[in-house]
Amino acid sequence: MTDLRFNVAQFLREHVGARRQYDFDEPALPLSDELLLAPLRGHAKFTRTKNGVLVAAQAEGKVRQVCGRCLIEYDEQIRAEFEEEFFSTVHVTLGTPLPKPEENDVFLIDENHLLDLGEAIREYALLALPIAPVCSDICQGLCPLCGTNRNENPCECVDQTVDERMAILKRLLNQD
Ligand SMILES: [Zn+2]
Ligand SMILES: [Zn+2]
Repeated sequence: MTDLRFNVAQFLREHVGARRQYDFDEPALPLSDELLLAPLRGHAKFTRTKNGVLVAAQAEGKVRQVCGRCLIEYDEQIRAEFEEEFFSTVHVTLGTPLPKPEENDVFLIDENHLLDLGEAIREYALLALPIAPVCSDICQGLCPLCGTNRNENPCECVDQTVDERMAILKRLLNQD
């Protein structure tokens, strides 16, 4: 399973403004108990800041989703793009704990100077998931009458309703 944790111990010894770039290409990143971003690839730029590392990253991958119209599973292409500062929690040369950033919800570099890029990608990929997944814009969905997947088989139901309307119309006309 993916390990997108970067050891930034060396990088944190560099001056503020120092940069580094990484490409990554991983088989899979779990997003939740059921969801997997797989495969995923992307690019990250690290910039040393006063408090830690500013990460600008883009990641792309596929997530298995169930179409809300035809109920069939398909792969949704997800793109996560973000810029986040990861804060050091331990001083890189002194080894002493650093004050926690005031905001909650910030990304932290752990006491072993590991920056978990996977955690940030996970959060942003979840945000990028569609609220109403659809396998394709032209998905015809299931027939509400017979349940047939209209993408695979046109069912007779539509024609029947038309026929019924025609029959009613004919009856109405014949009444005259
Ligand atoms: Zn569909
Ligand atoms: Zn039908």
